[in-house]
Amino acid sequence: MKIETDIVIVGTGVSGLFAALNLPKDKRITMITKSDAESSDSFLAQGGICVLRDEEDYDSYFEDTMKAGHYENRKESVDIMIRSSREVIDDLISFGVEFEKQDGKLAYTREGAHSKPRILYHEDITGKEITSKLLAAVRKYPNVEIREFTEMTDLIEENGRCAGITARCEDKELEIRADFTVFASGGIGGQYKHSTNYPHLTGDALTVAKKHGIRLEHLDYVQIHPTTLYSEKPGRRFLISESVRGEGALLYNKNRERFVDELLPRDVVTKAINKQMELDGTDHVWLSLEPIPKETILSHFPNICQRCLEEGYDVTKEWIPVVPAQHYFMGGIWVDSESRTTMDCLYAVGETSCNGVHGANRLASNSLLESLVFAKRAAGDMKQKMGEQ
Ligand SMILES: Cc1cc2nc3c(=O)[nH]c(=O)nc-3n(C[C@H](O)[C@H](O)[C@H](O)COP(=O)(O)OP(=O)(O)OC[C@H]3O[C@@H](n4cnc5c(N)ncnc54)[C@H](O)[C@@H]3O)c2cc1C
Repeated sequence: MKIETDIVIVGTGVSGLFAALNLPKDKRITMITKSDAESSDSFLAQGGICVLRDEEDYDSYFEDTMKAGHYENRKESVDIMIRSSREVIDDLISFGVEFEKQDGKLAYTREGAHSKPRILYHEDITGKEITSKLLAAVRKYPNVEIREFTEMTDLIEENGRCAGITARCEDKELEIRADFTVFASGGIGGQYKHSTNYPHLTGDALTVAKKHGIRLEHLDYVQIHPTTLYSEKPGRRFLISESVRGEGALLYNKNRERFVDELLPRDVVTKAINKQMELDGTDHVWLSLEPIPKETILSHFPNICQRCLEEGYDVTKEWIPVVPAQHYFMGGIWVDSESRTTMDCLYAVGETSCNGVHGANRLASNSLLESLVFAKRAAGDMKQKMGEQ
């Protein structure tokens, strides 16, 4: 089966959706997703999304991002992300996204390695709030078609440029021809035994890119999140958001002693937990929410409370067992600051791409923002090129 379209987008997470929303409405856009449209990591994001609070916050936000990334970040990308953050948040609000407010003004929370509160949130389901509103907006656009349960299998290379993709839907083989192709296909957690990601996110775009000699970067930069709920059951690990520690939760070893500063960057806290488990001969450490007022726990973290209750833990009364798990991929398909890959007419956005914002380790809550900022830039670049055609 052959499909002709103007732009094909592989993935319906925040990056794919935001690219679609920023493309011209007179262009035909085909979006595909391997699963149903709601099953993306973007829906799972809990803690929030960063924003530059004001001009005075610039140096400190820049430094926090660079420090967490071990100064391996591309400075230009970090600057673009921070400078574009307000505009993107305003866009989200215009699509109906609601963030927590205090006295009528946006409320900010804090997470590990942030030197001040600069994270917007919606309870502990920020990703669902953002992504469901963007998906609802896309579904209203008559020029966008979403094909669910359709898996990209390869790209079509013609004279060194990308001319679309091939895909599979049930037993049908599809050829989707397009002027521009956008890989927005998320991370690689499905390759791991213990991950917070959806199992169907297996880095397919990277495999395709490698096959066609497209430049990849930092394939060994994988982030392990320090705190997921310990369970002996198989399947996706449930994340205990960093903002729980940002609000005061503490980590303890088997002897009920603290062993690390809970607000250090993720990789440092993960290392400390792994070392502690080895010393203690245990499969997990403990997280206590006791320092957080009960009202804050219930209002800020209702989803975490509910999920822990289902697993037999009342977080307002008892400690919970936590263990590190694969969480995020900082490396990916190399892109420039307009999200262009090294193949003509092919873009990569979101977790699949590597624009260098995160360096060797992502700062908490920078991923949704980075995905949105650079998806919009990809759309802007395509728009300009289409204008020139
Ligand atoms: C539990 C959890 C909590 C998080 N919390 C936060 C947070 O608080 N703040 C923050 O900034 N970030 C957070 N993150 C990270 C953030 O959610 C993701 O990095 C971001 O949403 C990635 O968006 P994306 O559009 O790149 O990919 P995704 O949202 O993962 O979407 C990928 C899409 O690609 C599709 N796809 C994949 N392969 C194929 C294929 N072969 N063919 C067709 N379709 C394909 C998938 O079906 C899916 O639609 C969290 C992540 C997790 C897992």
